[in-house]
Amino acid sequence: MNNKQKILEIITSKTCPISTKEILNIIWTDINKTTVYRNIEKLLNTWILLEDFWKNWEKIYSFKQTHHHHFICDVCGKKENIWCFINSEIENLENKFWFKVKNHSFVLNWICKECNKKI
Ligand SMILES: [Zn+2]
Ligand SMILES: [Zn+2]
Ligand SMILES: [Zn+2]
Repeated sequence: MNNKQKILEIITSKTCPISTKEILNIIWTDINKTTVYRNIEKLLNTWILLEDFWKNWEKIYSFKQTHHHHFICDVCGKKENIWCFINSEIENLENKFWFKVKNHSFVLNWICKECNKKI
């Protein structure tokens, strides 16, 4: 298995998008940082991965097929997956203007039910 395949395998094994830091935590013994960054860049350029941002603007990566966004509780950090309702519109725009969108971000900060009860 080459490095690109290893990285892809880690990303597919997760339900949610993961950061480069998390990827490195899993494979740090086999592959160095630069290799991970380079391969992620390749996967982004071939539209296999999508780039998104976490709350603190940390970059996270997911497979295009399992791409989704999150509700994140401001108090306890609990997250809920939410369906991406902008991807189809982005595709329309890509076709119209003949370009490819590399990333988009959508994070909703909320207070979850449990935390809301305590307020
Ligand atoms: Zn998720
Ligand atoms: Zn909460
Ligand atoms: Zn999306």
